[in-house]
This record gives sequence, structure tokens and C-alpha cells, in this order.
Amino acid sequence: METKFVTITKAEPQSPGIREAARIIQNGGLTAFPTETVYGLGGNALDADASRKIYKAKGRPSDNPLIVHIADFEELPALVSEIPDAARVLMRLYWPGPMTLIFRKTERVPSGTTGGLDTVAVRMPSHPVARALIRAAQVPIAAPSANLSGRPSPTKASHVWEDMKGRIDLILDGGEVGIGLESTIVDVTGPVPALLRPGYISEQMLQEALGRITVDAASIGPVSAGLRPKAPGMKYRHYAPEAPLTLVRGEPARVEKAICFHVKEALLAGEDVGVLCALESLPLYRGRLGADCSSCPQLREMSCECRGTEKKGDGRLVLAAAGARQRPEEIAHNLYDVLRFFDSVRVGRIFSECFEDGELAGAVMNRLEKAAGYHRMDV
Ligand code: AMP
Ligand code: MG
Repeated sequence: METKFVTITKAEPQSPGIREAARIIQNGGLTAFPTETVYGLGGNALDADASRKIYKAKGRPSDNPLIVHIADFEELPALVSEIPDAARVLMRLYWPGPMTLIFRKTERVPSGTTGGLDTVAVRMPSHPVARALIRAAQVPIAAPSANLSGRPSPTKASHVWEDMKGRIDLILDGGEVGIGLESTIVDVTGPVPALLRPGYISEQMLQEALGRITVDAASIGPVSAGLRPKAPGMKYRHYAPEAPLTLVRGEPARVEKAICFHVKEALLAGEDVGVLCALESLPLYRGRLGADCSSCPQLREMSCECRGTEKKGDGRLVLAAAGARQRPEEIAHNLYDVLRFFDSVRVGRIFSECFEDGELAGAVMNRLEKAAGYHRMDV
């Protein structure tokens, strides 16, 4: 299949790129599009065949349900059989926005879209391109993240191209996404709302809005035998770079020392190693590990990131900063791009600092822990 790539400059339902994408969705095809969280891979949510195509394009297990995207509140009653009070509170506060709610579904939503569940995940995105596309298509759009299953979610159209070229009909390029992490998922079907996946809307924000919430164990720790996550997707290895990733956690000085020690060992053993760190720690690793980024052709010096590679011992050292520690939203925004960068330079293993400052820390660490397969060194 040939995949078209269209850059969107005007996010209106009538603009040509959006109309073409909408027609593809109406005809049962697939279109990737930007949202404020990550890029989505969209198909008609009411068409079980379109959902099957989404699973196939992503290589996603078919028991992992899709999120259904709507643009207006009037679309909700056709999809869900009940709108609990907690949902009304959250929708008033955070829709349109980066929050997905789990409802009981109506007959109109095919079980092929919901992985066989009798519930459905619904979100109303705020991104103008996503909203224009849903309105132009005139159907709710089922859209998981537009990456191959298991890979880091796409935050740029070029990431989607890497993963989906030849597998889908069209990619709408609307530039970089804003947030960079997937939506917060809240299950409102039970007596107490449950947080199934942390995101930009934090646990504290939900608690303030609702008074009481529970947190699904699978959203904060490894899925052990016998534990069935309420969001089926949480059981899979996710968001992960190809190389094994180890998180190093503790006092900053000890973390730096431990990372330098392990990196030097690996370099001497001839391994190519990546270090994922905060912008502030870059000079330290450069100094201690002897990387001379100024002479490195791959250096990318920007306000939020600095990357370089340098021969050291027999192995190759790759340093990448996701952002400044004081700006967690910058770290969230760049995290997947940096993980994909490590894939592109083919390091053999990665060590990462932990980013535990600020309200976004829950979401950032959830993605990093999963990317690391919960492999962590406490120092
Ligand atoms: P993605 O679309 O890639 O962001 O993944 C969607 C996430 O939403 C996965 O973790 C799913 O398991 C979760 N999800 C979708 N529908 C439901 C549902 N009906 N109940 C619980 N979790 C859901
Ligand atoms: Mg995903």
C-alpha cells in the first residue's frame, strides 16, 4: 500500500487534506493524525473491519481495546449506555483534553473496537486537526497511538512515517504534538472512579475533582501473575526502545556516580551505551565520561536537548537529554523522541536518570518504568 503524507496548515473540516483523510475514514481506510497527546492511527470506530485493519497495521494484540475519539458532546449518548456523575464532573473540567473515560458501551460500538469488552474508552481531543478530522468524517474515530505495537508512541509525523509507511493510507502532518504522553485513563463504570493510566491530568487533579479515586495496581507497577490490569494494554511491554533500559534512582550525586561506573564498564567491554539524563546533568557526564560533544558531528544543541556521540574505549557513548529537570513538561514532550533517537543510533543498552519532580512525574515515570520493563537500580 502506498502511504500519502499531507502537511496540514489549516485545521478546518473543509481544507483539502482533512477532507481527503475524512473520506478515507468513511470508506473504511486508515489515517494517522496529530492530537495534543501523541499521534493517533484512526479508523471508523463503528466499523469492525476498520478496527481489524488498525490492529493489523500496528501489529497490536486484538484484546487490547481502542480509544474512540469524538469532537462534540452530542456524539457521546450513541456510544455509551450510561453517563455517571463522576464522568460529568470530569468531562466539564477536562474535555476537550488529554483524558479518556471508560463507559459501558451501547450496541452501536462493535466489540471488535473494544477488544471484546462491554465497555468503551472515549476521549474528546482538543487538537484542532483532530477535531476538524472527526467533524469532517462525521463518525467517531477509533485511534490508538500510531506506532508499531511496543515501540515508543509517535510525537512527530516523521515517527509515524518510520513505523506506518506502507501500512496505512494517509498521514496528516500537523507538526509536533504538545504534551507528548498518552491520555490519562479513568474508569467511571464502578462505584469509585479508577485511574487506569496516568497522564497529563494527574492523580491529584482527579482527586481534587472527585474527592475519592482508586488507582489500578497495574498502572503503577509490574503486572505480576494473577493481577489482571483493568486497561488490558497495561500488561504489554510498551513505549520501549530496542536496547534494554535500566533506570537508576537515588540521590543525584549517587545516581551520576553509578551511571558513570556502569557506562565505563560497558564501554570497556565494547558495548555501545546510551545515557538518558536531565539537561543539567549533561556537562557532568560529558566531563566524567570524557565525551567531547563539540567535536561530534551528531551534536544537536537546542534549548531543551543536547545530543552527541563519541568513541570511548571500544564502545560508543551516546548522551541525550530529554529536558530540564525544572521543566517536567519539556521532559514529557521529548521523552519518546529521545527513546526513538537511541533506536536510530543503535546503542546496545541505555541507562537513565529518574525524573520525579513536579505533577507530571507520575506519568513520565510510568512510561519510563514500562519502557525499562521495571528494571531499576536503587543506589
Ligand atoms: P493507546 O490507544 O495505544 O493509547 O492505548 C489505549 C489504552 O486504553 C490501552 O491501554 C487500553 O487497554 C485502554 N483501553 C481502551 N479501551 C478500554 C476499556 N474499554 N477498558 C479499559 N481500558 C481500555
Ligand atoms: Mg499506544
